[in-house]
Amino acid sequence: MALPSHQATQADMSRLPAPPAAEAPTPPVGSRYIGRFAPSPTGPLHAGSLVAALASWLDARAHGGQWLVRIEDVDTPRCQPGADQTILRQLADCGLHADGEVIYQSRRGEAYQRALDQLLAAGHAYPCACTRAEIAAEHARLGWVKPRHGELVYPGTCRPSAPGQDGLKGRPARAWRVAVPQGPQAFWPWHDRRLGDQQQALDTEVGDFVARRADGLWAYQLAVVVDDAEQGITDIVRGEDLADNTPRQQWLQHLLGVPPPRYLHTPLVLDARGEKLSKQHGAAALQTHTSGQVLQALKDAGAALGLPTTEAGTPSDWLAQAVNAWPFR
Ligand SMILES: [Zn+2]
Repeated sequence: MALPSHQATQADMSRLPAPPAAEAPTPPVGSRYIGRFAPSPTGPLHAGSLVAALASWLDARAHGGQWLVRIEDVDTPRCQPGADQTILRQLADCGLHADGEVIYQSRRGEAYQRALDQLLAAGHAYPCACTRAEIAAEHARLGWVKPRHGELVYPGTCRPSAPGQDGLKGRPARAWRVAVPQGPQAFWPWHDRRLGDQQQALDTEVGDFVARRADGLWAYQLAVVVDDAEQGITDIVRGEDLADNTPRQQWLQHLLGVPPPRYLHTPLVLDARGEKLSKQHGAAALQTHTSGQVLQALKDAGAALGLPTTEAGTPSDWLAQAVNAWPFR
């Protein structure tokens, strides 16, 4: 894919700070650990989301740390009324209890606005007037072919050409975007505790990404980074399908001047068709009404995480043994 030949590149680059080191430093033994599970309340937990919940809980417990729960209901049209309560009950049924107040992203708009204001003031974010059709037309004009997960790399149309200006050319702003580094600085190496060394080219693989959407909703990337920072999260443990968000989130952490957490992305549970188990694909709700159901659900999730089978007869025994067997120390 061709790099965007955008005249703003040089001006923008001079205002961008140098990228941080590839790997977040490993906290010394005995330092604090705060982890989290952050479900979207689009439906009840299913077998796949329990794997992510369990992995984050086990990693926190194995490190003697805290485990927080955050309801990621920032995309309100996708949320299902009452699903948050169902999820919290399912977690409690499984013996997974948050060590602090449950945070709701839908109530945190002011914090996200402060972060966007900070990015705008520093010239790291800008308003964008483009519709999806216009972005697609620009792709066609540039001869770009490859959409990424169905998402088009933003071609930089509204990138300001100089500090203090906008690139709207008189059009109304629809969304706000975060500028990613261009050229050699866009190469983003990062480290995952299970997957090892990873990399992504922020300019050609992702492009300037949305912080506030055209419908006024806050984008996932900004909300996650702001919340992780405010909750003091030191370790992010989540499903592997979210791994390629990490460079964008690390870039935002860098721009906002917040500490970088460590990352562990867990294996996904696939259905019979080899697709990720998800609510969209009709994954069944996890049944946690009886101790037997809970024990089986925990054993299945543990197997997906590669934990050895045990003879545990109760959920609490199983959890205690799983903490001891947790391989990611
Ligand atoms: Zn635009």
